[in-house]
Amino acid sequence: MDAQSICIATAATNQVGNEGPIFRFVFWHSVTLAAIVGLIVMFYAYVFPQFIPNGLNFIHGWGNILPFGGLYPMDPRILQELRAIVDERGLISSPEELHTYECDGLVNFRVLPRAVLLPTSTGQVQSIVRICHRERIPFVARGSGTGLSGGATPVDKGIVISLARMNRILEVDFPNARVVVEPGVLNLDVTARIQHNEFFYAPDPSSQTVCTIGGNVAENSGGAHCLKYGFTTTHVLGLEVVLPDGTLVHLGGKTLDVPGYDLAGVFVGSEGTLGIATKIILRIVKRPECVRTLLAAFDSTNEAGAAVSGIIAAGMLPSAIEMMDNLAIQAAEAAVHANYPNCGGLLLVELDGPLAEVEALMTDVNEICRSNGAWEIRTAQSDAERALIWKGRKSAFAAMGRISSNYIVQDGVIPRTALPQVMGEIERLSQEAGLRVANVFHAGDGNLHPLVLYDRRVPGQQEAAETLSAGILELCIEAGGSITGEHGVGVDKKKMMSKMFAEPDLLTMQRVRCAFDPLQLSNPTKIFPTPRLCGEKPGEYSPHPLESSGLAERF
Ligand SMILES: Cc1cc2nc3c(=O)[nH]c(=O)nc-3n(C[C@H](O)[C@H](O)[C@H](O)COP(=O)(O)OP(=O)(O)OC[C@H]3O[C@@H](n4cnc5c(N)ncnc54)[C@H](O)[C@@H]3O)c2cc1C
Repeated sequence: MDAQSICIATAATNQVGNEGPIFRFVFWHSVTLAAIVGLIVMFYAYVFPQFIPNGLNFIHGWGNILPFGGLYPMDPRILQELRAIVDERGLISSPEELHTYECDGLVNFRVLPRAVLLPTSTGQVQSIVRICHRERIPFVARGSGTGLSGGATPVDKGIVISLARMNRILEVDFPNARVVVEPGVLNLDVTARIQHNEFFYAPDPSSQTVCTIGGNVAENSGGAHCLKYGFTTTHVLGLEVVLPDGTLVHLGGKTLDVPGYDLAGVFVGSEGTLGIATKIILRIVKRPECVRTLLAAFDSTNEAGAAVSGIIAAGMLPSAIEMMDNLAIQAAEAAVHANYPNCGGLLLVELDGPLAEVEALMTDVNEICRSNGAWEIRTAQSDAERALIWKGRKSAFAAMGRISSNYIVQDGVIPRTALPQVMGEIERLSQEAGLRVANVFHAGDGNLHPLVLYDRRVPGQQEAAETLSAGILELCIEAGGSITGEHGVGVDKKKMMSKMFAEPDLLTMQRVRCAFDPLQLSNPTKIFPTPRLCGEKPGEYSPHPLESSGLAERF
């Protein structure tokens, strides 16, 4: 029964007191009977979603409002079909093992999948997805599960399709600077395979030793060196994709500027909602002649921020400009002893290119840092020293465990010039909430990673940390920035989407999504604000009557 019907029923109830006892008897028995029939239909819709006819797809959402938790066992017939595709080693269905897949790096959202499938070929992915389509089973693609926004969190009554066993590098083409990989290949393994020929794969998320190219594609992942080289989207030229009905398509290709819509571009960053990438054509880059890395210590992040603006204003494009505040420095030092100076704002600047050019520009960077208050400047003298500097920065998230039992990693973007104002506001919010916030960021492109530290054992702290991190994202929006730079929206930030985008913008995105996945089977409930009113249905958004009349709000 929807909210509107409840209102009508309540109004009717108020009037029946004046009628006779027979009317009251008939009325209440009708209401009770309707409620029982409704509950039975909802129960069956929940347990046997595969029997819901196409036209009544919206019923699928009903299950979510039933107060049941736990594991919904899969129909043995379907399980048998899936087992036949991937064999025993490629199917996980015991509750104990399924717990491994109940979340990604965002551990405060957990859903137990009904089964996990580990295919080894595109054909197997297609067969699994076809069954999901036929039986209306939602599915979530998974790489290594390092995502920080809940993108790979399973969905209610759904299965997980892990691409971990599709981990072959299929082709290396040095003359054309292209590599073709399966989605489960680890990011750093691409560079490991091509470095003997002085090539590398540029997008370098800090998780690059463990995250997959498939996950990078879905999140449009970034990293310290994306300031100069561009995010994942710049390096993905083509994709083989299994659409949510099992059809195999090829988007983009090995050559640049393929005619027609840039559907490979649409797929990159779509967080698993448009299908499953089974093959990826990557652009690789020749190693520069020379790389120089500099550390500069400032009293505050404001001074370090002014130096960043100075470097960019001077027309330089370093390969990386990273910043850490004192709390982040303390954590990194405790974890990896990177020998960082103990300062309020640490800048890490890397330049690469021809030797003569890099040497000349390094002198300019030095001067700009000094003139903005740097009191210690160090240039790495060896590859080992350079590696240690990066180790400190790249382990900064994980290092938070050294100074706090729990933390939330946020990911917002601001215009570089808004840095002093936004940092000041983050400090104010942090003090108001009584929680510490450490800051590590890609300073060159204004991508902040505030880490909100808390202790889950203290009642109320987790909620306070979640409120604080949402408040920080609102600051980013107000400053003209964005709610995500590289970690995606997932489940974590979907409620912020309607703060960031106007309704026509969201509707346009939904239309794209529905063109790929009209039944919303591929990673549903991610990115978009969830319909939460009775009578709303998945698919293109249309306002609920209660919303139009101003009685309800969408988030
Ligand atoms: C310590 C740490 C540091 C990090 N640093 C960075 C960083 O510097 N920059 C950055 O951008 N991120 C960073 N991340 C976040 C994370 O590592 C990236 O988002 C990464 O790309 C996720 O890859 P994954 O293989 O773990 O994907 P998963 O977490 O398994 O999945 C991520 C998303 O991709 C989808 N997906 C996975 N494979 C496919 C496929 N084949 N086809 C379609 N969809 C698919 C999933 O459904 C999900 O929505 C960090 C995470 C951690 C834990």
